[in-house]
Amino acid sequence: MSKEELECSFCGRKKAETNLLIAGLDAHICDRCIEQAHGIVVEEALHSTNSELSKELMLKKPKSIKSFLDDYVIGQEHTKKVMSVAVYNHYKRLLQPKSEDDIEIQKSNIIIVGQTGTGKTLVAKTIARMLNVPLAIVDATVLTEAGYVGEDVESILTRLLQAADYNVEKAQNGIVFIDEIDKIARKSDNPSITRDVSGEGVQQALLKLLEGTTVNVPPKGGRKHPDQKFIEVNTENILFIAGGAFDGINRHISKRLNMQAVGFSASKKEETMERDNMLKYIIPKDLKDYGLIPEIIGRLPVLTYMNPLDKGTLRAILTEPKNAIIKQYKKLFEMDGIDFVITKEALDFIVEQAIEYKLGARGLRSLCEAVLTDAMYELPGTDDKELTVTVEYAQEKLNKSTIKKLKAVS
Ligand code: ADP
Repeated sequence: MSKEELECSFCGRKKAETNLLIAGLDAHICDRCIEQAHGIVVEEALHSTNSELSKELMLKKPKSIKSFLDDYVIGQEHTKKVMSVAVYNHYKRLLQPKSEDDIEIQKSNIIIVGQTGTGKTLVAKTIARMLNVPLAIVDATVLTEAGYVGEDVESILTRLLQAADYNVEKAQNGIVFIDEIDKIARKSDNPSITRDVSGEGVQQALLKLLEGTTVNVPPKGGRKHPDQKFIEVNTENILFIAGGAFDGINRHISKRLNMQAVGFSASKKEETMERDNMLKYIIPKDLKDYGLIPEIIGRLPVLTYMNPLDKGTLRAILTEPKNAIIKQYKKLFEMDGIDFVITKEALDFIVEQAIEYKLGARGLRSLCEAVLTDAMYELPGTDDKELTVTVEYAQEKLNKSTIKKLKAVS
C-alpha cells in the first residue's frame, strides 16, 4: 500500500483527510476516532465508578450509618439520626438514574447548631470516614467576598482537592465542613445601612457553591491569578455541613416560643423549657433572626442541634468511643509493655475538672495529658511494667501542671 492510500481502519478516512493517522500492527486510527474512543472510555469509567459507589453506599441504610456514628459519637441521638437520613438521601440523590418524572431530589446540605466542643466536627469526620470520601474542614471566619483581604470562597474547594489528592472525581463526591458559620451572620438587622464585608457578602458568595455550580479552583489556593491554571470542580454532589455555636440564639428561640405561648399556661412551660436545651426547639426562622440570609438557610435544608455535654456524656467520651482517649493511652503504654489502669474515681475526677475548668470534651485530652506526661516520660525503658492512676495520683500531677492556670483565665 502506498503512503497516499493509507486510511483509518475505523472510519475509513484517507490519511489526507485526517490531522493525524497512527499506525498499529496492521491497522491505523485517525485523530477523530481516537477522540471519540476516548470519550467512550471516560463515559464507561464514570459509569462504573457510579455503580461501584452505588454498591458500596446502598449497603448502608440509615440505621447502619447511625450505628457507625454510635461507635464514635457519644449521645447526640437526634443529630445522629437526622444526619444518617440526610447522608443516605444525599447519596440516593447522586445515584438516581436520570429522572423521567421530573422529580429532582434536592441536595440535603446540613446545618448543625451547638456549643463548641460538642462534637459537630466529629460527626462530619466520622461520616467522611465511613463513606471513605475526602473531607475539607474550613473556617467561615477566614472567608471574605472576592476583592477583600482574606480567602475567596473558592479556597474551600482547594482544601477539598488537597484532601482528595487532586482527584477531581473524588473531590466532587466529598464532604465540606464549614465551621463557625454563625460568625458570618449579618451584624445588623437592616441590611442596607452599610456594606457588611465580613458577613452578608460571604453568605452571598457561598450560595452558588452550596447549591451546585462549576467553579474554577486555584489548585494551590491563594488569590485568583491570571497566570494560574485552574481546576474545574463541580459542587453539585458535594455534601456541605455547616456548624456554629450561634451564641445567644436562645434569646430568639425563647422569644418566639413565648409569643406562641400567649394564652397558654406560659409560665409553667417556660420553666421546664429553661432547664431543657433550648436548641431543641430551633427552627430555620431563628437562624434568620440571628442574621443568616434566607437563601443560605434554604440551601442548608437539614437543621439539627447538639446537646451540651453533661457529666455522664463526658465520662463516656473518655472510655467508650472506638478510639476513646483512655483506649489510646492504654495502647501507647502497651507498646512499652506497660499495663495502664485508671480507677473509676480517677476518671470521675478528670471529668469534674473538665467541667470546673469549663474545658468541655476538648479539655479531657489536655487533662489526661497533664496527668500522664510524667509517666509517659519516666516509665519506658524501666522495669516498671504497671501504672495505676488513682484520684490522688491524678490530683498530684494536675497540681503541678500549668493546666491549673487555665482556671484563672476562664
Ligand atoms: P465542635 O466541632 O462541636 O467544636 P469537636 O467535634 O471538634 O467539637 O469536638 C471536640 C473534641 O471533643 C473532639 O476531640 C471529640 O472527639 C470530642 N467530643 C465532643 N463531643 C463528643 C461526643 N459526643 N462523643 C465523642 N467525642 C466527643
